[in-house]
Order: sequence, then structure tokens, then C-alpha cells
Amino acid sequence: MEGLMMDYQLTVPSLMRRAEQIYGAREVVSRLPDRSLHRYRFRDFVRRTKQLALALRRMGIRPGDRVATLSWNHYAHLEAYFGVPSVEAVLHTINLRLPVDDIVYIADHAEDRILLVDEALLQLFEQVRERTHFEKVIVLQATRPVPEGMLDYEELIAAEDPQTFVYPDIAERSAAAMSYTSGTTGRPKGVLYSHRALVLHSLGLGLAESVGLTGRDTVMPVVPMFHVNAWGLPFACVMLGAKLVLPGPHLDPASLIDLLAGEKVTFTAGVPTIWLGILQALDKATERPDLSVLRTMLVGGAAAPPSMIAAFEKRHGLRVVHAWGMTETTPLGTVSNLPLELDGAPDEEQMRSRARQGVSMPLVEIRARGESGIVPWDGMTPGELELRGPWVASSYYRSDEQGDRFTADGWFRTGDIVTIDATGSVQIQDRIKDVIKSGGEWISSVLLENALMAHPSVAEAAVVAVADPKWQERPLACVVLREGESATGEELREFLAPQFPKWWLPEEYAFLPAIPKTSAGKFLKSALRAQFNRPNEV
Ligand code: AMP
Repeated sequence: MEGLMMDYQLTVPSLMRRAEQIYGAREVVSRLPDRSLHRYRFRDFVRRTKQLALALRRMGIRPGDRVATLSWNHYAHLEAYFGVPSVEAVLHTINLRLPVDDIVYIADHAEDRILLVDEALLQLFEQVRERTHFEKVIVLQATRPVPEGMLDYEELIAAEDPQTFVYPDIAERSAAAMSYTSGTTGRPKGVLYSHRALVLHSLGLGLAESVGLTGRDTVMPVVPMFHVNAWGLPFACVMLGAKLVLPGPHLDPASLIDLLAGEKVTFTAGVPTIWLGILQALDKATERPDLSVLRTMLVGGAAAPPSMIAAFEKRHGLRVVHAWGMTETTPLGTVSNLPLELDGAPDEEQMRSRARQGVSMPLVEIRARGESGIVPWDGMTPGELELRGPWVASSYYRSDEQGDRFTADGWFRTGDIVTIDATGSVQIQDRIKDVIKSGGEWISSVLLENALMAHPSVAEAAVVAVADPKWQERPLACVVLREGESATGEELREFLAPQFPKWWLPEEYAFLPAIPKTSAGKFLKSALRAQFNRPNEV
């Protein structure tokens, strides 16, 4: 028997309609390239978004067409987030930190028809201009006449009357947005987010069991809007009426701390390298900024060192919440809140639990597969994490590299090696390609890195496999020391010794001025492997 409920479609414009009706007075604050702050209200955002939608239609954008952005986090990018899906087109946020060749490849692969580009990024665009095929290029935040052949966003939308915009009926399974993976090997692969997935993911962000966003929050996504929808925060904030603070291109610790304090941010999100920088700045600050209303600093995208979580809490009274996700999972997959069972447990045990990647979001199911099948949830047996859920990709966009990532029974293979404990909490041990295979056993580079980063002299550490004639691979620790500190390899090895089996301990330590990073700010281990392995060895 069929249920008798409406088949209400979960679409991005439905979030916008709510914002228009209920949250018109809520604010969006953006840092502009000249460092000044731009402020407007949700009602201005909705009005301009409708104008953008009308302008896109006038330019011939049809349902299913791709419209790309090359843009930092600010109000005009937010307008694209909603304006493009509002005409049933697909927003393709291009990751501006990708190598130029990859940008050319993905713009071509996605067949983007129109590009919205920040004036501040025109130089980058010039590097790809000749090799891409956008029919129209629209300049955002132009402070001077736009280059020949391009259009000025403000002029374009000013010509449209928002009153004439009528929301189309959109099927919730149609695509609203797309991101490409920033894979360090092979070509980037396209992930197509449906309206339905974005709406359900937004609801997920509002659950107290995940991160519990509400309209009382002031949210600053430091995670870029060009990487996995800024973790879905722009959609969720518009749905819930939360004030948005968008930091533009200024991502240095001083600028971010200034916004956190000045705008009374309650919730912020970013990768560990951002928070490590902020931690050092707060440690050094002679005058404490007032961060008393900041309730959650969400960290993910790479493993958050437990020492960092503890340092924020102990030294600055700030709560870091660890989460895990991927481009393919919209991205939130797991969040590490303290399980009820650990209320009242000793601090150290609570911290150990919170430093894990956490429990899957409601509606996201997980399992891990080892060499002999699905592994038990014993917190010890490693396996590759697999997931399924309404905001998990079912395949890549026009790619012939599907086969090994999606199982025959409908799960997505993440490529992350994890253990899962009895409470369902996941701990990432490594990427399959980063795990160190020594003498037939696996050594987790992530656990060694976290332990090294807890050493008082160590600012950053990345551990990679180097070829070894006897053991096949051995770990090599690449270490960046804190300013003015010193440590030897011998000292670091002694520091690690009590925490790991002897055969895990790196024999070799390389002291570097910096660890190379990926476009998303993660350690670029492939570069380190290439640097420390002679050709053909690994
Ligand atoms: P991306 O698709 O670029 O966002 O990268 C996703 C990958 O980042 C995952 O497969 C993990 O390997 C890694 N990752 C994301 N969050 C975490 C985390 N909290 N801890 C460890 N690794 C993470």
C-alpha cells in the first residue's frame, strides 16, 4: 500500500524561499580583496540571486547546463550557489588551487558554458583563457572596467527585475552542483550533487547529533566554497537563517581571528592546517581576542592531531570538533561528538574518543572491508571504509574509472583504511596509497604524524613510505620544527617509542622548512615520496 503523503521535492530553491519568507533580516558579511567588509541581508541576497537567475536564463542557460565559478568565499559566490540551481542549471565550483592543467581539464570535461570569475582571480584565469571554451565570462566584484570580451556581474544583474522571477518546478533528483576530486593521482573525477542530496545534507548539519547548526549561529566557513560546497554550510545557513561570515581571499590567522572576534562567530570550519596556524597565533598573542561565543571549530579534510584539539581546549577554552568527509560524500560522513557512554570518563579517554573521526551521520551507513571480508567493529581490525546514504555519490560523472570505487551491492569505496569501534566510531588509519607496508604488516602514517605533532618542538610532520630491500617499505618522518626549537631524529624516535610497536618507529627523519601541500591544504605526500624515493623504487 502506498503512503498518502505529498511527493514534495527537496530542492535548493525551497531553501531560498524559506530564507525569503522568514529570515530576510539575517546578515551575510564578506571580506573583500581590499580587506574592507561588505554587509547585506538575506533579503538582498535573495533579490540579487533572482536577478542572477534571470540573467542566466536571458543568456540562454537551460536546465542541465553547467555554470562555473572561480571564486573565493563571498556574497556573490553565495548568489551563484543559489542562482544557478534556481534555473535548473548545475553550479560547477572550480578549485582555484588545482594545477592549471587540471583546471583546463575539468572546465572542458564539465563542458562549462559560462564562467563567473573574481576580479582578484583574473590573473589566474588569464593562464587558462586560451585553452578553455567558456561562451561568456562574467567578472565578480569588479572595481574597474572589465577586460574586453567579458561582462560585469553588477551591470548584468542590475538589468533584471527580481519581481519577474518565478521558481521553476525542479525534480529533486536532478543535478544542482558539481565538484571535482582533487585526486593526487590520475585525473580529477566529477561528482554531481542532486538537489535532494544538498537539502538532506543541510538537514543533517542541523541535527544536534551532528553539529547542530541553528539560526542563532554565526557561521564562518573557512573551507573554500570552491571545495565540496564549503562543506554544505552555505546551503544549511540559508535554510536555517544563520548569519554567514565569508572571509574572501584573506585566510591568514590574523585576518581570520579578526573576523571570529569582530563578527562574534559561533561556528567555524576548516582543515587542520588553518587551525594549526590560528593556534600558533593565539599562543603568541599578547592580548587575547574575545572568542567567548565561539562554540565549535569543525575540523576535517585531514586528520586533526589530538594534541591540537587538546591545546585549543586547555590553553584557549575552544572546542574543536573532528569530522570526516570527502568530495564524494557532499562531504559530511562522520562527526566525533562524545558518546553518551563516555560522559564522566577520564579526560584522556574522552580526548582519545573525540580525536577519532567519529560516528556516521544519521542516514549514512558505514562498514569496513579487510582482506577477508567485512571487518568486526572491534576498534582494531583495519579495513577500507565503505559507505552508502542519500548524499553519497553513486558514480562519477562521465568517467571510466568507476569500477573499483562502487561495489556491486551499492556501496562507495572510500580508499580510506579505518578501524571502527563498538560505538561505531571510525578512526582513519591512512589512505590506501599512504599506508606503509612493512614486512607484510601495515603501519599507519597518520597515527605516527599525530604523535610527532604532539612533540613540543614539532610544528608539522608527514610520514611517508620509502622503499626498503628487506621490509619492502619503511616509514620516513618529514618534520618541520617550530620556530626557534630544535630536536634530533634520535630524540623524536625516543619520544615515539613508548606509544608504538618497535617496528613502527621510523629510522629516518628529514627536517624540512615546510611540508608541500595539496590544493586543499593537505600534506602532499606524493611529492615527499617522489623526493625521498629514487625512481623505480616505490
Ligand atoms: P577530499 O575529497 O579532497 O575532500 O578528500 C577526502 C579525503 O580526505 C578522505 O578520503 C580522507 O582521506 C581525508 N580526510 C577527510 N577528513 C579527514 C579526517 N578528519 N581525518 C583524516 N582524513 C580525512
